[in-house]
Amino acid sequence: MSVANNRSNSIPFLDLITPHVELEQELTEVFRKALQTAGFIGGPMVEDFEAAFASFCGTSYSVAVGSGTDALRFALTAGGVKPGDVVVTVPNTFIATTEAISQAGALPEFVDVDERTYNLDPARLAEYLANQCTVNDEGRLVSRRSSRFVTAVLPVHLYGQMADMDPILDLAERYRLTVIEDACQAHGAEYFSQKHNRWMKAGSIGRAAAFSFYPGKNLGACGEAGAVTSNDASIAEKIKMLRDHGQAKKYYHDMEGYNGRLDAIQAGLLRVKLPHLAKWNAQRRERAAEYNRLLQSAEDAVVVPYEPSWSRAVYHLYVVRTAAREGLMNHLKTAAIGTGIHYPIPLHLQKAYAEMHHQTGDFPIAEKVAKEIVSLPMFPKLTAEQQKRVVLEILNFSSRVLKKNAEGERALSLADRTA
Ligand SMILES: *Cc1c(COP(=O)(O)O)cnc(C)c1O
Repeated sequence: MSVANNRSNSIPFLDLITPHVELEQELTEVFRKALQTAGFIGGPMVEDFEAAFASFCGTSYSVAVGSGTDALRFALTAGGVKPGDVVVTVPNTFIATTEAISQAGALPEFVDVDERTYNLDPARLAEYLANQCTVNDEGRLVSRRSSRFVTAVLPVHLYGQMADMDPILDLAERYRLTVIEDACQAHGAEYFSQKHNRWMKAGSIGRAAAFSFYPGKNLGACGEAGAVTSNDASIAEKIKMLRDHGQAKKYYHDMEGYNGRLDAIQAGLLRVKLPHLAKWNAQRRERAAEYNRLLQSAEDAVVVPYEPSWSRAVYHLYVVRTAAREGLMNHLKTAAIGTGIHYPIPLHLQKAYAEMHHQTGDFPIAEKVAKEIVSLPMFPKLTAEQQKRVVLEILNFSSRVLKKNAEGERALSLADRTA
């Protein structure tokens, strides 16, 4: 992510300073309390935050862990994913999603995304399950690609908007797959489920869900933190063991686990910030609506985010698409406006996954989108004036490009032909 320069009218990509300045007294009190009790790991501060976060998500349980990546890995293992299994996910996500799958001993396989929501396309998932998998003699689903058992699907609620969960749950039921949500960008996002006939929060629909409280997320710690939510008591118990070396009682290890606990200080800081999350999310939604309104005059130049009627997104990121991405980003940089790309290279084309032997064209929507997306400044305290300036600069850029294109059209097409 680009960081704005020191010009006084610079607009940062995100603002992590203001919310902490506003809550400074309450936040520093957490440190004092931790020092006085020396309660640094686990304990009442962690339990208090867990209860509050479960209540926020509308789940029976929340188990705090060291990071979002831990949360994903533990959720997969506790959800029954075994070493050697295949977990189906999307290629356009942060690598932590697939790292967690690999670290749980499983193998990620991808399905492409919906071009409007950028989230897992249930139609592609159906196609994958029907055509790229077979059912073996024991009635188990096997991937043709890897000859491994397919046991879970991991939809990512990207940019703060939930994936279309009803059809995903239907397919999961039909093929007996466990659904684990990657809700690391979607604290408080909602989905209208026709199956349940009500709005449901991210993290409350799958068998379990992973949240990250990395500082830049909608709810961020002042360091690393994460949580798993679930309505299943046995999953919550299993996660508590996984995060603490496989023990439920000190030094009695039922299995090998991890050092994946949450610091009490981080839990305390998160507990202070949590009551503000709904308001911050509402402010993000207002900022997104304002961008949408302002960008109507630039609809030739950029595509704004699409929010289906069944979705209430929380705009962790406000992502637009443009064919002239590099030019636009450079123009905004010169105007001291921060931007980012989330994410420039789909996972199937990353060097880390060269051994999967994927190639360009395997997931065309994810690939196309990756070339065009740009994330504009988005944070709760972004002002209408700042947004006006961002959009004005987008308009300046696009009119310049359009003008240049019109003038240079002949020359360009000539150059193309001689190239
Ligand atoms: C942030 C993030 C993670 C990982 O969370 P950490 O707390 O950084 O480990 C996983 N998945 C997605 C989609 C994320 O945005």
